[in-house]
Amino acid sequence: MVSFKELGLVNTREMFAKAINGGYAIPAFNFNNMEQLQAIIKASAETKSPVILQVSKGARNYANQTLLRYMAEGAVEYAKELGWENPQIVLHLDHGDSFELCKSCVDFGFSSVMIDASSLPYEENIALTRKVVEYAHQFDVTVEAELGVLAGVEDEVQSEVSHYTKPEEVIDFATRTGCDSLAISIGTSHGAYKFKPEQCTRDPKTGKLVPPPLAFDVLDAIMEKLPGFPIVLHGSSSVPQEYVDMINEHGGKLPDAVGIPEEQLRKAAKSAVCKINIDSDSRLAFTAAVRKVLDEKPGEFDPRKFCGPAREEMERLYKHKIIEVLGSDGTA
Ligand SMILES: [Zn+2]
Repeated sequence: MVSFKELGLVNTREMFAKAINGGYAIPAFNFNNMEQLQAIIKASAETKSPVILQVSKGARNYANQTLLRYMAEGAVEYAKELGWENPQIVLHLDHGDSFELCKSCVDFGFSSVMIDASSLPYEENIALTRKVVEYAHQFDVTVEAELGVLAGVEDEVQSEVSHYTKPEEVIDFATRTGCDSLAISIGTSHGAYKFKPEQCTRDPKTGKLVPPPLAFDVLDAIMEKLPGFPIVLHGSSSVPQEYVDMINEHGGKLPDAVGIPEEQLRKAAKSAVCKINIDSDSRLAFTAAVRKVLDEKPGEFDPRKFCGPAREEMERLYKHKIIEVLGSDGTA
């Protein structure tokens, strides 16, 4: 058993309260490898933004849970080395699917866990979430729960259709589970193909797909039921067109990839939405940079020569999200 506090990590409690009062949101970036972690920490340290490092099931399978945890511990030291005196870094389990997994993360030094029982019937979601909360809170670890179903494909979550969170359930759910934050479904979705072309309209000038707007009426109704309660948005990548174009120009094939427009996320960040999950955008940034180098320099075979530019591109992306979309810069 190791406490996250020994590792220099923080939980989300104070961070979320400040974000709601300040009208901004905390970035939650997934990490799977060293370059991604370096880019996240550098962007956060340089902009003085609190940050949530997320570990998904796919990341655990890819990089090993033990290694990722020690990387997060190293990230705190790295942040200090970069001149961030008091780093506000959360190590968070993304989409925990069982009590045992959440418990193992709590015992292992995570400062926050998500129990995603949203695919279970309502009462079972409450029971499992409650069980995780009771365990985690003994160690001051904060718990994110989910109500409603997001569409799209993630490492571990897949659904054809989305079911918006029902505002009439949120008071009962939050009270009975004791969760610290709630992930809701209002039209965001996992992956780089968030909407099918038939769900979108086309911009007559550019011919590009324009996705349907988020259900801000549902968000408003939830905030009215739970004033000041921390709300989380998953699947909130914007799928920047420049990366899609770069990938396609250098031999890739991503037709009609579409994400959530940044102005909608900007609007959400000003509300009780205090954690916004972004994963696909950094994958796109990484892939775009790697493809460009390998396409332009076919003789290159030193991974540092393409992982380095990929890291720089991700850092640029993270800083852009922090400063231009979430507004969390200068708050840590
Ligand atoms: Zn998610």
